[in-house]
Amino acid sequence: SNRIMLGPLVAAIDQGTSSTRFLVFNAKTAELLSHHQVEIKQSFPKEGWVEEDPKEILQSVYECMDRTCEKLTQLNIDISNIKAIGVTNQRETTLVWDKETGEPLYNAIVWLDLRTQSTVERLINKTPGKNKNHLKTGLPISTYFSAVKLRWLMDNVEKVHEAVLSHRAMFGTVDSWLIWCLTGGKKGGVHCTDVTNCLGDQSAALVGQMCFKDGQAKNTYGTGCFLLKNVGTKPVMSDHGLLTTVAYKLGRDKPACYALEGSVAIAGAVVRWLKDNLGIIQTSTELEKLAADVGTSYGCYFVPAFSGLYAPYWEPSARGIICGLTQFTNRSHLAFAALEAVCFQTREILDAMNQDSGIHLSQLQVDGGMTSNRLLMQLQADILCIPVVKPSMPETTALGAAMAAGAAEGVSVWSLNPEDLTEVTSEKFEPQINPEESELRYARWKKAVQRAMNWET
Ligand code: ADP
Repeated sequence: SNRIMLGPLVAAIDQGTSSTRFLVFNAKTAELLSHHQVEIKQSFPKEGWVEEDPKEILQSVYECMDRTCEKLTQLNIDISNIKAIGVTNQRETTLVWDKETGEPLYNAIVWLDLRTQSTVERLINKTPGKNKNHLKTGLPISTYFSAVKLRWLMDNVEKVHEAVLSHRAMFGTVDSWLIWCLTGGKKGGVHCTDVTNCLGDQSAALVGQMCFKDGQAKNTYGTGCFLLKNVGTKPVMSDHGLLTTVAYKLGRDKPACYALEGSVAIAGAVVRWLKDNLGIIQTSTELEKLAADVGTSYGCYFVPAFSGLYAPYWEPSARGIICGLTQFTNRSHLAFAALEAVCFQTREILDAMNQDSGIHLSQLQVDGGMTSNRLLMQLQADILCIPVVKPSMPETTALGAAMAAGAAEGVSVWSLNPEDLTEVTSEKFEPQINPEESELRYARWKKAVQRAMNWET
């Protein structure tokens, strides 16, 4: 009776490395109406190994959907107006399950996991010239990607090996696992993905930030940090350690658009490490105040190469270091150095991108969980010497997935005209330090990176 009439709604399941979210948007205005978020446990059974429980991931999706729908109902919004649900997810995280029992055959191996390092080395040794950069796929041979993880599962997990032999093994990234379960599981679930992982999280953020034009880019600060630049309908190969990847393909008869991607393994994960491993903060939001108390790292540099280094180095044997310590250094300096590390890593991939294209970005569009940290955003502008622009609605990954799903069902306006979207207002962080100081700090960072390289050799 007193239901609010909003027209069609679109939703997204955003299954990230640290948490799962379900979000519902107005399909015409992109306004976020309701959402719920649940943190995901990570286990580290051995050094370098990172796993998550596929059933916990699935349960977290159900919980987020239930709670979001309850909230909508309380707001008098009719949930039957949800016309499409997009799925976006942590890319490369690998699962194998049994299609007859519906049971996962092992934990999900998270993209950050390093257990395949020896497989990677063996594969690199087999290539002509021992070259890890594979020009056919656009990707280097690295522990990051799913194929080597699947190889490890087939070779090392008896249950997986048996299921493969008896044709019961299903392989997928998180999107495939969720869609298969949500569409009926062992009673006829659909086993599918899309060219990016069903709008993988980083592609979805590119779409959510409306980077539809050749040359537009965004950087997402989550567990890792991923800078993607749209390069149009022809793939571009990088000479500077970036990946060539599919950005999105929005419809069967639409062309695929490609992106250059700079991937950083550890961004928000360093914050979680300071919280869970060192205990110097209780919550991630405390980090900002701690770092702001000093406003400088006092010459301390922290290279969080916990999972080797990704772009632009692709060096699996790098390990984390903290250097430049003095008697004066305290936890606030360390907190500041951790935030600076995220900014320096972004500067490295942005430099690589500028070198590849010869065109310099005049500002950087950002999103992701870490962008709620205003000190980080200011530091990023200082270290890049260009403005950093953050949308007021930070859930761009989910928005991209929801709007793309809505477009497929013909309900999103998705006019590609930012002025039509009520939510696209943004905040701009301008550089505040002089470029010489920025260069000096960046040069020291580069020295610290050299010390983190080839740690085990
Ligand atoms: P993902 O998509 O990888 O799950 P999110 O975009 O949800 O990641 O961001 C979560 C990450 O951001 C966590 O690693 C967390 O430590 C970090 N984070 C969240 N809030 C802050 C903050 N205020 N300051 C610094 N880091 C933060």
